[in-house]
Amino acid sequence: MSNLPVVPHWINGQEVSGKPDHVVLVTDPALGIATKQVNVAGETEIEAAFASAQAAFPKWRDMSQARKQAIMFKFRELLNERKHECAALITEEHGKVLDDALGEVTRGQEVVEFATGMPHLLKGMFTENASSGVDVYSIRQALGVVGIISPFNFPAMVPMWFFPIAIAAGNTVVVKPSEKVPSATLWMAKLWKEAGLPDGVFNVLNGNRSTVQAMLEDQRIKAISFVGSTPVAKYIYEEGSKHGKRVQALGGAKNHALILPDADLDLVADSMINAGFGSAGERCMAISVAVAVEPIADDLIAKIVERMGKLRTGDGRRGCDMGPLVTKEHRDKVAGYIEIAEKDGGRIIVDGRKQNFDGDENGFWLGPTLIDNVPLTSKAYKDEIFGPVLNVVRVKSYDEGVKLINDGEYGNGVAIFTNDGGAARRFQNEIEVGMVGINVPIPVPVAYYSFGGWKNSAFGDTKAHGVEGVKFFTREKTMTSRWLDPSHGGINLGFPQN
Ligand code: NAD
Repeated sequence: MSNLPVVPHWINGQEVSGKPDHVVLVTDPALGIATKQVNVAGETEIEAAFASAQAAFPKWRDMSQARKQAIMFKFRELLNERKHECAALITEEHGKVLDDALGEVTRGQEVVEFATGMPHLLKGMFTENASSGVDVYSIRQALGVVGIISPFNFPAMVPMWFFPIAIAAGNTVVVKPSEKVPSATLWMAKLWKEAGLPDGVFNVLNGNRSTVQAMLEDQRIKAISFVGSTPVAKYIYEEGSKHGKRVQALGGAKNHALILPDADLDLVADSMINAGFGSAGERCMAISVAVAVEPIADDLIAKIVERMGKLRTGDGRRGCDMGPLVTKEHRDKVAGYIEIAEKDGGRIIVDGRKQNFDGDENGFWLGPTLIDNVPLTSKAYKDEIFGPVLNVVRVKSYDEGVKLINDGEYGNGVAIFTNDGGAARRFQNEIEVGMVGINVPIPVPVAYYSFGGWKNSAFGDTKAHGVEGVKFFTREKTMTSRWLDPSHGGINLGFPQN
């Protein structure tokens, strides 16, 4: 039994501590110690959260668009004023540096702003006289209770990819945050209450796979938005679908940058640093492989190494460039991949295992690492490492680079660096990846477009936010209507035609 403070659940507008039957410790990765705990939701909390969301649904669905919108605007204002509080919680549990944490809250806020326009997005269509005297029209309606399950690496932004749209569209929500970083979601729950959201519309269940399983099976949950690793995403998609739910499940990634010989190598080197080591590489849009079309690889490596020398890794609260990894286990796993790369014949140019850190000696540290020539058969090339490890792969041509990227298992993000517009245009056409950057290393779409990868990076056919998000959280109802005039057509057993 620990005496650590409990991060509670949020059910029907109230904090609920739950019972410490099964406890998960939450660590501060820069200190390397447990600072809080989560009592994994048991049957009582799960039932209370589902029932509260179910009970709140009809009234919330039927509230006027104008009143719903006023609450959305208020939430946006509070979030904007106080986002540094949320950022501090993220740094405390995830480890990413404060600026980066603030950046993720701001990107989530963009989705709240998009969702304030929901009345416009929900407008249906109307066709007068589809047949004589017959009108056809459609409306979009909320689904009911929806479940959101999020990963550790974006404690605020990823839940915000979904819940602003789900709520603004009239659904009620149960969020299951990652047990490693539970506080940001709870913070947002309190903000919703302050913004005037009725109790029961936004609920938070802390837990792990047992909580997720309950969400997958319960018939009150109509849809699931999941973000996490590929094996779990695939399971969620299959299991949720089996239980009759609408599911979108975003998975892992291994993102490449293709660098053509005419690219501005200073821009590329800066971009590789930002996209490879930002958030210690724990981003699903991190670049982990730089594919250099020869003869530029040696020059590029020199520029990257020079920049790596200036990076400061340490406690995210001390103005460092890069923080620790999220847990000790994850740090060890990532360090293990450096060992694999070395054994398989890769050349370790900068070794993150042998660096100094500006932080507590118990923190989960691993510095930025650069590896050249990892064989394409090595697990260190093929697997998602999810840490500050950048591989350089050399190819002879654009075509060889595109083939290598398209042969990969994942298809989340990719970037091309070139000054040749024709090559960039060909690339956007030929590359089998869902989000493409052209001289932009982390092409995360703005909120009014949609986020999602291809292949093993996403299961289900709708992406997060933008109009696809609205489509996911609503269903279309189509009416065919005739208000009788004197020209009654008589009996006709044939199939209706125009
Ligand atoms: P994870 O798959 O371990 O966990 C994600 C969520 O699923 C958590 O809430 C966790 O409690 C739950 N979970 C874990 N194992 C489960 C199981 N067996 N059954 C049911 N639920 C389970 O992922 P993570 O380590 O928290 O996050 C990192 C992963 O997320 C990386 O692979 C990263 O690429 C991916 N990610 C993808 C995107 C994207 O948009 N494609 C965005 C962010 C993160």
